[in-house]
Amino acid sequence: MQHQHPDKQLAMRHTPIVQAKNRTMANPHLTVIVPAYNEALAITQTVENIVHTLSALSSVWDIVVVDDGSRDETSNIVKQLPQTHNTTLVRFSRNFGKEYAITAGLSYATGDIVICMDADGQHSASLLVEMLNKWREGFDMVYAVRQDREVESKFKKWGAKFFYKLMSASGKIEIPKDAGDFRLMDRVVVDALCALPERNRFMKGIYAWVGYRSIGIPYTPLPRTHGESAFSRLKLMSLAWTGITSFSSLPLRFASAVGVVLALLSFTYGIVVVIDKLFFNESVPGWPTVVASMMFLSGVQLLFIGILGEYLARIYDEVKGRPPYIVAEVSRPTLEQSSHAS
Ligand code: UDP
Ligand code: MG
Repeated sequence: MQHQHPDKQLAMRHTPIVQAKNRTMANPHLTVIVPAYNEALAITQTVENIVHTLSALSSVWDIVVVDDGSRDETSNIVKQLPQTHNTTLVRFSRNFGKEYAITAGLSYATGDIVICMDADGQHSASLLVEMLNKWREGFDMVYAVRQDREVESKFKKWGAKFFYKLMSASGKIEIPKDAGDFRLMDRVVVDALCALPERNRFMKGIYAWVGYRSIGIPYTPLPRTHGESAFSRLKLMSLAWTGITSFSSLPLRFASAVGVVLALLSFTYGIVVVIDKLFFNESVPGWPTVVASMMFLSGVQLLFIGILGEYLARIYDEVKGRPPYIVAEVSRPTLEQSSHAS
């Protein structure tokens, strides 16, 4: 009897079943997930805008707000929303970060279609109509592409440019430029995302990795209704670094390439020194050369040990097997009140 290769068995066990969807469904169940961190001042208006749009699009809809460990009243405000808003609150035990709030939102979402939107009012709910139309045309994922990079700070603009260049150079996945978390996903995509076991969750990479028929539609983010972005320069750089190390081994290859070049250079230099000594009896240059090259080489070595360490840290995070987030509380609208939407 022929046995299947173990890798093949594993792949078959984990591959989500892709079912043909009925895109003509008049009333697909829509779920909007909203990651929220310290959004007490904006969340009511955001949810109201979403409710307004959703009720015009379908008669079956709900909203899941994930409170990512806010230190303000975000959770209480969401719990006190009228039951007709059909909004479930998932509260984290502490701040785990937006990537994890989205991950939780996806696993609590029950819709045929799931849409992810920011809580700060920057994502206009009116775009949902266009997104849904694209879904009806047969696309499984519809992502909004920012059009306002020109007005952003130089740091963000050039940083983003450099990041997308680096990611596309790694060649494994193509991350659509300037597409964020504002997107519509079919149930098949959501199931595929939820089936991924990794704890280092760089969502932009993960969306691209799962594939499916995707399309971008342009949008200009609205100004934040209150407060400031939670993503400082440092946080953005750390997120970019997570993206690069989670989805590419380019830094490791770069280290190897530099190693090879340096080894060749020093070998050539060694030959030159020997020839000089043997045939021209020249004296070997003194200690400044030795010190300079030693310092340079130890710097390069430390840098590359650091890069290795970064990958090791990612592996360490994964093998610890801790859950990616902890939910402290789930508060659902009560049955009879939510029945208006089902
Ligand atoms: N957010 C979150 N956890 C965090 C930081 C932000 O859930 O640790 C949410 C935030 O409430 C908002 C969205 O993620 O709904 C985007 O955050 P923000 O507006 O600060 O970022 P930007 O719009 O500048 O990308
Ligand atoms: Mg924002």
